[in-house]
Amino acid sequence: MTRKKSQSVSSSKLEFDQIIVGAGAVGSALALQLSDLGYRVAVIDSQTPHYQSSDPERMIALSYGSRCYLEALGVWQDVEDAGIGLIRHIHVTEPGNAGLVTMDAADTKDMAEEIDALGYVVEMGHLLKPLHERMKGRVTLFCPASIRELDFGDAERQAEVQISHEGKSIVLQGSLLIGADGTNSQIRRMAGIGTKGWDYNRFGLVLSASCEHGHDSVAYECFRKSGPLAFLPMADDRFSIVWALAPAEATRLSTMPELLFTKKLEKAAGSDVIDRIGSITAIGKRFCFPLELTIAERYAKPRLALVGNAAHTIHPVAGQGMNLGLRDAAVLAEVLSTELAFSDPGAPILMQAYAEKRRLDVMAVSGFTESLTNLFGISLPGAKKVRSHALETMQKIPSIRTLLLRQAAGIGRRKSMKMPAKLPEGNIKKQTEKQAENRVGRRTV
Ligand SMILES: Cc1cc2nc3c(=O)[nH]c(=O)nc-3n(C[C@H](O)[C@H](O)[C@H](O)COP(=O)(O)OP(=O)(O)OC[C@H]3O[C@@H](n4cnc5c(N)ncnc54)[C@H](O)[C@@H]3O)c2cc1C
Repeated sequence: MTRKKSQSVSSSKLEFDQIIVGAGAVGSALALQLSDLGYRVAVIDSQTPHYQSSDPERMIALSYGSRCYLEALGVWQDVEDAGIGLIRHIHVTEPGNAGLVTMDAADTKDMAEEIDALGYVVEMGHLLKPLHERMKGRVTLFCPASIRELDFGDAERQAEVQISHEGKSIVLQGSLLIGADGTNSQIRRMAGIGTKGWDYNRFGLVLSASCEHGHDSVAYECFRKSGPLAFLPMADDRFSIVWALAPAEATRLSTMPELLFTKKLEKAAGSDVIDRIGSITAIGKRFCFPLELTIAERYAKPRLALVGNAAHTIHPVAGQGMNLGLRDAAVLAEVLSTELAFSDPGAPILMQAYAEKRRLDVMAVSGFTESLTNLFGISLPGAKKVRSHALETMQKIPSIRTLLLRQAAGIGRRKSMKMPAKLPEGNIKKQTEKQAENRVGRRTV
């Protein structure tokens, strides 16, 4: 007997080991990993998933580390088949400044791990579709569903979630509740967990664009005083562009006639970039959204863990939000693959271990992202010269370049994304029986 895929129905309550709220890429990846460990997993999402391309497409740059993780989950091949843009070179500039940093996937040949690309540009729907398809038959999905009531439980008592799904009221019970419900996490708010951070007073203007010479697998990051402008190479030779601007300017540019806008975009990218990619020949629809930094004051409590954007939303400048979220999922699954977790997956000591393991990575990535945005926002006399010198130093000193390469590709953090091994069947059975006994003793149902 295993407990997998056989959630027990006791009167009107469905019993699981983990209840994940949010079927975005982070919640879904985590659900797959936990189900592979033999856990009974429920996933709730308020939206019916859709995978069609929007205009502009929602593009994400995944690091090599995230690719390896998705490979281990068995979804990468489908993502790749749907079409990915390869980032083989990264070109960092400040328009009007001579300093320049370039990184090339070929430079990793001297590292322990040689890689084919520094990053992979993926359409969100192409990532979500295989994740959701692989969940079928392994994970119980409630979507669309809305949360009506929530009892977080405590060290002795399981968590309970009452949801509305297909016109019915259903109560789910689980040892651990996981908030994977994005930046405005309802779970985080209901748990009374505050956030730190700020509104950048910047909007991200997103669009796709074609240019005369194509992209040749190069990503361009142009740091401007008003905010960064990133060009990511898509699967079909277009660029996906994210441009950080003051809100009024972003709104103005988003409605400006195409030809005029294209000229402004070329000017903002600078001649160094435009000389390489050629003129911009066509653009897609433009879309604006506010940029913010939101870091949860705690990532976990007894019987509760936050992952992905529910735990941290960072500036998209370094394209690290999803990579960070997938590392949350990998680390939480690793914590839940221990013996102790099989007797109580929501035990306070495990939640504390998860929170401690994640804090440093989140602080390092959000700190790195902040320093980038701040460094290029300084307009004091001489600041440009200092930046030029900093960029030249980054380019020339091999150890700094290696560090940047590892950061861009997510190689250094790959260790934290290793797939936990499945626990032996006998162990699951033993623990399941023990857990069932414990539950009978303490449940009122
Ligand atoms: C313009 C832009 C560019 C970016 N580029 C990159 C990049 O290049 N690389 C990178 O790594 N990251 C990037 N990011 C960040 C990345 O998109 C996010 O970090 C990532 O999508 C977060 O995933 P998630 O699963 O945590 O949250 P989400 O994708 O927000 O998913 C949350 C899920 O929860 C569901 N939900 C919400 N509320 C509820 C509720 N109350 N009940 C039930 N379900 C609920 C939602 O329907 C959704 O399915 C970018 C972000 C932006 C805005």
